[in-house]
Amino acid sequence: MSESLSPPNIVPLEQILPDEPLLMMGAGPVPIPQKVAAANSIVINHLGDTMNRVIEQVKDMSRYVFQTRSSHVMGVSGPGSAAMEMAIANLVTPGSRVLCITNGYFSQRLAEMARRVRAEPTILEMPRNQGADIETVERELQRTKYDVVTMVQGETSNTVYNRNLEQIAKLAKKYGCLIIVDAVCTLSTMPLEMDNWQVDAIITGGQKGLSSIPGVSLLAFSEEAWSRKIANRQDLPYHWCLDAQLADKFWNQKSYHYTAPVSGILALHEALRLVCEETLPNRFRRHLRCSEALQAGLEAMGLELLVEKQHRLNSVIGIVVPDHVSADAVRADMSCVHKVEISGAFGLNILRIGQMGEQSRAHNLFRTLHAFGSSMRKCGAKLDLPAGMAELERVLSH
Ligand SMILES: *Cc1c(COP(=O)(O)O)cnc(C)c1O
Repeated sequence: MSESLSPPNIVPLEQILPDEPLLMMGAGPVPIPQKVAAANSIVINHLGDTMNRVIEQVKDMSRYVFQTRSSHVMGVSGPGSAAMEMAIANLVTPGSRVLCITNGYFSQRLAEMARRVRAEPTILEMPRNQGADIETVERELQRTKYDVVTMVQGETSNTVYNRNLEQIAKLAKKYGCLIIVDAVCTLSTMPLEMDNWQVDAIITGGQKGLSSIPGVSLLAFSEEAWSRKIANRQDLPYHWCLDAQLADKFWNQKSYHYTAPVSGILALHEALRLVCEETLPNRFRRHLRCSEALQAGLEAMGLELLVEKQHRLNSVIGIVVPDHVSADAVRADMSCVHKVEISGAFGLNILRIGQMGEQSRAHNLFRTLHAFGSSMRKCGAKLDLPAGMAELERVLSH
């Protein structure tokens, strides 16, 4: 008989975590407000009157944030990708023809998920660093009959923005398709009107635009998607946890599906409440102003942004790393010296700075731009740090 295991040697968390928390200015997760953090520390019963009241409010606030009157708004325990998979698993059936409009990593993930539920995705890839073009999409919809169209509002991976989302969603409808939109990084940072733009499913995560915690996500199905695809579906979806009809038991019928992530839902409640308190128009204005000021500051320093203005996402900014500068060294110096964390990219030679939720605050911009310029210069980039700071100040106070 072998010996039983002894406890491993474990270092306490406080010795692993930095003394001072890093300012999270990358592509997510983003800083969370104190109210969100406090709610996240509470555990309550997942069923019963208290939870029911919380869920009703979460749904009402979500309807405002998604701009929909649909009764099919629900949460999912899991990352933004779980919400993406839930939308796909319920609206895409085996053999469905799915048109996946792709501009990068996350839009391709939707295609991969469609393939895994045994559909036949067709990938319509946009030219490098460009948003989806209306004519190209319409030509494809004329050429072939599709059941579902998928796209992202913002491609966090390479900082490309699908500015024509509204027109493309309406086109998809005109050609009889359901349209699924990934708004994980963009929701509540810029306009997205589910009902008016005729979108059938919108997905979001907690840890980006909403400034909540990672691991609890939201999605909304249109009334049409629900009645046409979900309520009438003959076969069972592949994923039990992601089955929207089962999830509806918890989100609309006050009964049990799986144990809801109660703390995360309370955190989301607070994050949504702060969005409602600020109101969407004010929140969009804050994000736009902050992102434009940061972009102007970066350019005034002499740095180049990856994506042309017309196709550029404001929620996450991609900065080209100059030749002979190591992106990893810049990030390491920023974390170590300035206690600011930003993101690298998926194989691209860019660094990414987020402008989502709490990231879009003037004091965070000054600290981040200074840290970025200073670390870049230390790592060999030629740039004018004071000029960048002055431009940030100028645009913000404009
Ligand atoms: C972050 C992100 C995702 C994935 O979210 P996870 O929580 O990491 O699963 C999907 N789509 C977009 C556009 C994102 O920005």
